[in-house]
Amino acid sequence: MDNQITYPYIEEYLNELEPPEDAFLLALEEEARRDNVPAAVRPTARLLYLLAKLKQPARILEVGTAIGYSALTLYAGSGKQAKIVTIEKDEERFLLARNNIRAYGALGDVKPLCGDAEELIDTLDGTFDMVFIDAAKGASMRYFEKVLPKLSLGGMIVTDNVLYGGRTAAPGEPLHKHRTGVRIMREYLDFLCTDSRFYTAVLPVGDGVAVTLLKD
Ligand code: SAM
Repeated sequence: MDNQITYPYIEEYLNELEPPEDAFLLALEEEARRDNVPAAVRPTARLLYLLAKLKQPARILEVGTAIGYSALTLYAGSGKQAKIVTIEKDEERFLLARNNIRAYGALGDVKPLCGDAEELIDTLDGTFDMVFIDAAKGASMRYFEKVLPKLSLGGMIVTDNVLYGGRTAAPGEPLHKHRTGVRIMREYLDFLCTDSRFYTAVLPVGDGVAVTLLKD
């Protein structure tokens, strides 16, 4: 099943609407599309940019760097003010990301780490004002639990891919190969939407984005 979150014509329209103003980010978006790197689609990237602009986080943590597109989008959204730590376990992608971050002149502020986020998150010092979870879909809950003690009050956690191509919301039995993924994502969204510590909005943007605020 292709993305069945909105209608294909809306998807196509939004994916072509308003490219990033920043020529470097536009080139990075094109590189990701060309090389089949699973970087945020344009509407998701615009949302990240906007959230960083609104939130003005001093520190951001990203789980799942790929080639650095969303990390640099968040950085641009923060007005290049945020300090960002971003974690990628695939070494080839990590090296590409580091080159891209360097070419953007951001290596002093955006720190890429190579390794498994489930191990590295525990080793990070300090708190974060904004977290973007975008690594293995089935592990989002585990990343969230690890990140939560490091989130500042009023902090924001953004999770991508929560609608899993529409399967999370689709009626009827999912295909066997998607059953576990669907169950995990439904449990995760139930948790985000019912736990009294958080306020969560689930948006049908891209592959589905959950925006969660830790109440202060
Ligand atoms: N956030 C990126 C963007 O929008 O430009 C896209 C990230 S891509 C969807 C997910 C990335 O997470 C992949 O490059 C994958 O190698 C990485 N990943 C998967 N599991 C991981 C883990 N446990 N720790 C760190 N990175 C992981």
